Amino acid sequence: MNALNFIGGVFVEAHDGETLTNINPATGEEIGRIARSNKADVEAAVQASRLAQNEWSALTLLERADWLDRLADGLEQRKEELAQRESKDTGKPLALARRVDAQRSIDNFRFFANFAREQEPEVFEMADATNVVHRKPIGTVGLITPWNLPLYLLSWKVAPALLMGNTIVAKPSEMTPLTANLLCEVASDIGLPSGVLNVVHGYGPEVGQAILEHPSIRAISFTGGTATGRHVAATAAPKFKKLSLELGGKNATIILDDANLDAAVEGAVRAGFTNGGQVCLCGSRILVHQSIADQFTTKLVESVNSMMCGAPEDASTHIGALISMEHLQKVESYIELGLEEGGTVLTGGTRAMTGQVGPTQDGAYLRPTIIDGLDPSARTSTEEIFGPVVTLHRFDSDEQAIQIANATEYGLAGSIWSTDTERAHALAQKIETGIVWVNTWLHRDLRTPFGGVKNSGVGREGGAWSLGFFSEPLNVCIKHD
Ligand code: NAP
Repeated sequence: MNALNFIGGVFVEAHDGETLTNINPATGEEIGRIARSNKADVEAAVQASRLAQNEWSALTLLERADWLDRLADGLEQRKEELAQRESKDTGKPLALARRVDAQRSIDNFRFFANFAREQEPEVFEMADATNVVHRKPIGTVGLITPWNLPLYLLSWKVAPALLMGNTIVAKPSEMTPLTANLLCEVASDIGLPSGVLNVVHGYGPEVGQAILEHPSIRAISFTGGTATGRHVAATAAPKFKKLSLELGGKNATIILDDANLDAAVEGAVRAGFTNGGQVCLCGSRILVHQSIADQFTTKLVESVNSMMCGAPEDASTHIGALISMEHLQKVESYIELGLEEGGTVLTGGTRAMTGQVGPTQDGAYLRPTIIDGLDPSARTSTEEIFGPVVTLHRFDSDEQAIQIANATEYGLAGSIWSTDTERAHALAQKIETGIVWVNTWLHRDLRTPFGGVKNSGVGREGGAWSLGFFSEPLNVCIKHD
């Protein structure tokens, strides 16, 4: 299946006809060609978006909310296909793609449609005047997204951007273009006005860079790695573009001495290994109280050993392939580094699979891996690996747990496991991060702020934060007679 650009409501090749190969990382096979676009294609997309802007922004918020619902309906009708495409592009288990990626992509449109309907006018009365705040569209916005949760993350931006009256030029990761195209097919089928949503495929330094530099794109919402985020910020900031940066993480899962052990093990495994550890929120550092560490570790290793690792279409698979062979090699290099830094691999660390349907040799598979015995300041313990690898650390006091949790340059998320929720709530406030879950992980209310501190990003998305980012407030102050 090929991925063409979607510009001005039409599927088109890159203007110079260049293409890239799309590989299924679970098999190493080519599954299609992708338009390899550049500056000229981005220029065409921007022109299309500008032509569409007036008509789109002239609609009311509620009319645009109805369009989001139509997009959700269209995706829902093709939900199975969406999950299949996502699994093929990423190598993730099909069951996970159905449950998480496909469902959340639909939910994102539904959520913002309903959220719009709950909005109250923003009016501030003074003794002698009334202030009315209007949320105006920014214009053309640029959306740049990664490969780990392709349509989930793209729709998280597309929905609020459209709702607030903007038009879009989006660049998905070139490794996972297929579901962005499905969204464009749905947009075309339901008759979304041409030019409102434009998708340009290709490499980051070519297409992404052209989006960052384009003078008519006044806001950039970027999700991806911290190093790329730094480049995005350096390029866009001097042009005074509005910026939202959702970047990497090295999140702590903290198991206190009074935790329900079975629930904590289950939570730590889910946080550590969901999507093969390729979620920015993954708890890649497990911090456990010394007094329960041995018991916890035994159960953790048992649980990880019982995970099925294999072909994405096998219903029993918990862990599928990683995104690419290159990424697999990067993750393996961190396991080697962990050993050099004095760590011990308790389980995993190899490509041997346990799934009922055997994966091919050419798939990017890695067993879920636990590394024990590392100093919390080691590189393996502090750098983002973004694979099925967790490091295990022991602590003696709540203060020490916080000190270890905060000892990275990242600050995106984390979880605390304890039967004393007041104690956990108090500790949560001492972690330098954007999100803390207590006795759960990745439990999302889409109204809440999502984003990180330190090198995990700038700004928040979600609910009112997304509406705020994708609009410019205009305050009109009317003096009373
Ligand atoms: P990445 O390499 O930073 O890429 C992200 C996006 O940026 C891709 O579309 C990429 O295109 C594009 N890009 C690369 N160079 C660019 C440039 N010079 N100008 C503009 N765009 C450019 O990240 P990734 O490897 O795809 O994703 C994994 C990272 O994303 C991890 O660090 C993870 O923690 C983070 N992440 C964060 C969140 C969050 O919400 N905080 C959510 C998910 C993932 P190409 O694909 O063509 O390189």
